Amino acid sequence: MNTAAISPAAPASSATFEQIAELERKYLLQTYNRYPVVFTRGKGVFVYDIDEKRYLDFVSGLGVNALGHAHPRIVKAIREQAAKLVHVSNLYYHEYQGPLAEKLCALSGLNRAFFSNSGTEAIEGSIKLARLAGHRAGGEAKSRLVALDGSYHGRTFGALSLTGQDKHRKGFEPLLEDVTFVKQNDLEGLRAAVNDNTCAIVLEPIFGEGGIYECSVEFLQECRALADRFKVALIFDEIQCGLGRTGTIFAFQSFGVTPDIVAIAKPIAAGLPLGAFIAKEEFATAISPGQHGTTFGGGPLACRIALEFLAIVEEEKLLENVNKVGAYLHQELQGLVEKRAAATGVRGRGFIQGIQLEIPARPIVDAALAEGVLFNSTQDTVMRFLPPFLMEEKHIDKGIRVLKKLLGKKRK
Ligand SMILES: *Cc1c(COP(=O)(O)O)cnc(C)c1O
Repeated sequence: MNTAAISPAAPASSATFEQIAELERKYLLQTYNRYPVVFTRGKGVFVYDIDEKRYLDFVSGLGVNALGHAHPRIVKAIREQAAKLVHVSNLYYHEYQGPLAEKLCALSGLNRAFFSNSGTEAIEGSIKLARLAGHRAGGEAKSRLVALDGSYHGRTFGALSLTGQDKHRKGFEPLLEDVTFVKQNDLEGLRAAVNDNTCAIVLEPIFGEGGIYECSVEFLQECRALADRFKVALIFDEIQCGLGRTGTIFAFQSFGVTPDIVAIAKPIAAGLPLGAFIAKEEFATAISPGQHGTTFGGGPLACRIALEFLAIVEEEKLLENVNKVGAYLHQELQGLVEKRAAATGVRGRGFIQGIQLEIPARPIVDAALAEGVLFNSTQDTVMRFLPPFLMEEKHIDKGIRVLKKLLGKKRK
């Protein structure tokens, strides 16, 4: 089918789904278990496949497309900047890295930023900084890391070493050996794990890939107290839960506990690769020129788009929408859980929520795809919702209707 006839935005390619999938089967490392659909374009909260079938998007490209697809201001800014300057390297200044760092510091209350290309690199940089600060404060021995069972921090060796899930670690050992794992919200375990040799506590305030489990305020406060007492860097991984998804610009503002370093990425540049970590001055000063760097990170295109992303979130009052529609989503999911036997609980807040199923979630996601709705599953039995910040109540209604149909049997 010639999609160009329907949409001027569609590419000229005439490859079929089968041809596209076959080529990937032959030439790509087989690391992904993709859904059987090829997307060609998106608009707002919808994406369109190769046959122009429309899908309502509750996934946002795994939390990245917070402004939905093809936001007019983002499209315009990318066009303009692409015609001016895409890359210069970190050998030189450009106009956008400083203002973006200033903005992120103002929003977080922290003092200095470093820009990477991805979330996992933001975590790597954070733990490198924590090691330097640890060694400065307590010598070589102050190097141990504390992380949480069930967490997810990325796929590089450092980030993987902090990831508390065997399924991701298996086959890649030995990893960093100086990591102690603690159960989420286990105060006793936490107190036993942190000591003078600890240089960092690393955690997601809300587990994303781990299944939408929240840290308790009490647990986060205890992390803060121990970090202060033992001169430890408290590092929050807000790569998934941060930048508006909880209804505040940083998730830590929803919990009232401020970290020393925060890592962000996913939605920051509206789909262009960009990550960052932002640190308090007392940690930031532990690093000197030459000790960390990146070729691509913080380039003019990505930084300009990130500034535009933050401006749009503010000017379009999207946090208000996340709070309002997020509460509606929670209430509707709660209603679903009360009526459907296969669903047992709702977790999360704002636009990072999940429901616990008693059955495998992937077949539900597969069936929803046929119904024109994109959902995501994680940890086998959790349906995860990471909608674009533009989503309205009528879209939630559509998603809930499909879920009701697919979850079948009523609770007795
Ligand atoms: C996605 C994610 C990462 C890794 O980010 P990448 O951009 O995939 O490298 C790390 N931590 C959390 C919480 C994430 O959700």
